Amino acid sequence: MLHATGPLLTVDVGERTADETMIDEVLEATVGGRATATALAYERIPFDADPFGSENRAYLSTGPLQQSQTSFTGRMNMTGLSPLTDGLVSTNAGGYLSRNFVATGYSVLEVAGQSDELLAVHVTGDGVEFEEVPALEGATVPETSDYMEDQHDLGPEHCIAIGPAGENRVRFASVMTFDSRAFGRGGLGAVLGSKNVKCVTFDGNVEPPLEIPNPPEMDIHREAATSDDRMRRQGTTGGTEFINDNFSLPTRYFREYEFEGAADIGGNAVEEKKYKKGACSACAYACKLPTRDEETGVETEGPEFETVYSFGSQHGVDDIVDVMRANELCDTLGMDTISAGVTVAAYLESVDEFGNAKLAQEITERIAYRAGIGDTLAEGVARCHDELGVENYTVKGMEFAAHDGRVLHGQGLSYAVANRGADHMYASMLSLEYAGQVDPQGTLGKAETLVDQENHNAFRDTGIVCAFGDDYVTEERLETLFDADYADLMLVGARTVELERHFNNQRGFDRDDDGVPYDLPDIEDAIAEYYDARGWSEDGVVTDARLESVTGTVRSDD
Ligand code: SF4
Repeated sequence: MLHATGPLLTVDVGERTADETMIDEVLEATVGGRATATALAYERIPFDADPFGSENRAYLSTGPLQQSQTSFTGRMNMTGLSPLTDGLVSTNAGGYLSRNFVATGYSVLEVAGQSDELLAVHVTGDGVEFEEVPALEGATVPETSDYMEDQHDLGPEHCIAIGPAGENRVRFASVMTFDSRAFGRGGLGAVLGSKNVKCVTFDGNVEPPLEIPNPPEMDIHREAATSDDRMRRQGTTGGTEFINDNFSLPTRYFREYEFEGAADIGGNAVEEKKYKKGACSACAYACKLPTRDEETGVETEGPEFETVYSFGSQHGVDDIVDVMRANELCDTLGMDTISAGVTVAAYLESVDEFGNAKLAQEITERIAYRAGIGDTLAEGVARCHDELGVENYTVKGMEFAAHDGRVLHGQGLSYAVANRGADHMYASMLSLEYAGQVDPQGTLGKAETLVDQENHNAFRDTGIVCAFGDDYVTEERLETLFDADYADLMLVGARTVELERHFNNQRGFDRDDDGVPYDLPDIEDAIAEYYDARGWSEDGVVTDARLESVTGTVRSDD
């Protein structure tokens, strides 16, 4: 089976040491990306670690396809213990970093320890340098990129960076690359912040050693370049009105299921503001959305659909320029737009100020700096909803993505059981339910499909293939690319889900943590069906015996 190559680079920012470890056996078993990072995190992060403690570790990893020039592969994975969910999370970002990372020759970067001083870490093919960067204290993401460009001649395509939100340990702070692409969900920006790591740069000239199969009949690149998918013009926002028509666009902090202003902030509105093409490295599909409003001068990349939801419908805001402003604020300050937008929506609910975009932006900024009420909101909805006097719309502490589980019941089941919490990319049952391949009504009888979806997405984040490439990088083509049966690839995905769950179980997660904060038909029985399909106990626990039989390994801290 094709797998990523190169040693693991461990950077201890407290000790200021850098060590290489050959991990060929791990890579052979786990391929790369999310699976490799999860396996390493599982072995190396103490089960009782504090997400903000020096014992937590953050992993940045590529898959083998980042050594190719195939479309839909310009992405990377990050994994760590989340300060938002308190469990293991993996998150995935595009941009141009992956090829620069591969050029350093490493397969995985592990960031360990805790520095006393704010640091930039420079990784090259020839070694690692630690630079104290007191001048960057409180700097935004673009200010950090500018500094790296000025001082080191390395543009934002060479960097991961955090903004003030990460430094201030906002629980949903993102790690940014290329200024506008986010390792968004789960607060790994706050993990880097707790380690006092402002940014990491990657620069090298190691030639990728892998030869990736590319038979002429599998011309993914040409198909990507010539596709007339609406997504190429409108990104993910192209689906806004369809989703709204399906009553799956939560509005005004979940009061409603559809938004009367959806057309004003949807795909056409965004396309009108788009002023050039945008892409990730090597990707001819080029679905990104550099946008600009000539009248106000507001410029950003996006918003993508989830931001149209979190800062648009959820706030009762129907002006696309306001959504663009909020998107730019989150990117600049380094915050996940979904969790930030939904948390601000909870605040707007508490003060009955829906539609007040100016207030929403002010509160967003306050969150990043933990100023006033922003300090409360920076903890996320699960930790602050009592103080606000609003419902707790989260799963495992993570704020909901759009695609309303109250309407798409299989997606609701997915939110309920996902190790990552209320995130739509963990299993994407929504795609099958929108397409009518699965009846959106009801939760029973969907467990096997959900398991397949989770395993598929876990492998996709391992390879690494973009989530928007499923129609092009098909199951058959995955078999060709990875020189393996699809069933074996899915086993890699399944083991990843099992390791995440076992790790979280050791931290106390069980049946009580699986569920959604609303009624779904037969949800108790459906969760039991899911555990059964996974081979887990009726408490939602992966037993040691089960883990050993699936992964061949089990760790005990006794
Ligand atoms: S499809 Fe879009 S998001 Fe995915 S790699 Fe290509 S440009 Fe990036």
